[in-house]
Amino acid sequence: MKTGCVVVAAGRGKRAGLTYNKAFYPLAGRSVLSRTLDALFHSGEIDEIILVLHGDDLSLYEETICREGACPLVKNVVLGGETRRDSVYAGLKALSKDTDIVLVHDAARPFVSKEIIQNVKRDARSFGSGVISCAVTDTVKRISPDGAARETVDRNVLRTVQTPQAFDYQKLLRAHETMPFDEGATDDAYLFEKAYGCVHLSEAGSARGNTKLTTPEDFAMAEMCFAPALRVGTGYDVHRLVEGRRLVLCGVEIPYEKGLLGHSDADVATHALMDALLGAAALGDIGKLFPDKDPAFENISSLVLLSRVKETLCSAGYEAVNCDVTIVCQRPKLAPYIEQMRGALASALGISPGCVSVKATTTEGLGFEGEGLGISAQSVATIQKIR
Ligand code: MG
Repeated sequence: MKTGCVVVAAGRGKRAGLTYNKAFYPLAGRSVLSRTLDALFHSGEIDEIILVLHGDDLSLYEETICREGACPLVKNVVLGGETRRDSVYAGLKALSKDTDIVLVHDAARPFVSKEIIQNVKRDARSFGSGVISCAVTDTVKRISPDGAARETVDRNVLRTVQTPQAFDYQKLLRAHETMPFDEGATDDAYLFEKAYGCVHLSEAGSARGNTKLTTPEDFAMAEMCFAPALRVGTGYDVHRLVEGRRLVLCGVEIPYEKGLLGHSDADVATHALMDALLGAAALGDIGKLFPDKDPAFENISSLVLLSRVKETLCSAGYEAVNCDVTIVCQRPKLAPYIEQMRGALASALGISPGCVSVKATTTEGLGFEGEGLGISAQSVATIQKIR
């Protein structure tokens, strides 16, 4: 016998402020729908999924699975109907004939856990139904038509219900086929209790986190939950050492007989750092942001450019966490300037000097750095989403 699951993704995204189905909203690079299907797949509790979509979304779905991969459990995609009930019924009819337990789940609940799925499945086997439910923790008021509250409801006798909702497959199918249309039917639990007198409520467990993504705030919160905490980028740069130029490294001018050649101040170390920061955010590189043909950047301090990189990151919703810069330079000795360099970079980035590391090394006379022809720099930087 099989456990089937009908995933309903036929709704529109109006309350989320979207112009398209919210199931296709990307959460940290992967759609809500894919995240929900991933959770069902990785539970190991489901044998087959029927996905119910709106006809308008079929091409969007095709694009999504091309990009994100198809869930191996999705055996069939069917078109939804006028109402949620029609959509679920279409899904139920498409399940394998040897299905014994069916779960109905909203695509907009990507946080569904293995524990929740196990609980509703177990209860559906024992009691014919298992609907995930939560105790009410807020005080509940009953309001009069004028909006005034004159009565406090006993919350101990109240439960909110969510999806997944699990049922004996044949019983739920019969309820859909025999029960008359009812405007108040918002979910399958309602239909089941009308048909059979009651529905079994399953233990919430960690169901508190089983949020249905509805408002823009829900999506922002979900994005943070799925986004990796840190992103990493690397940067590398080289400039030639020539006479008649200033030597500026990490924003600090260093007395030396030669300086670095370039369109800006040629601060090779700050350039490597900027590329690491931009790389971490997948925002390109400094060549793209500050073209060396643009007269606006002639002899400009790279610390000014670093502040702009910070603003660019900020516009994309990121901030620098920490960075490490290694300058490869045979001469002059940089040790006396390291602390000043860290302070200059830290203030341009608006982070503590404790989060900025600058190191210098020689190459024991080898290569172009060792021969004093140029200076190279490497950097690694981490960034995080602004909370
Ligand atoms: Mg450069």
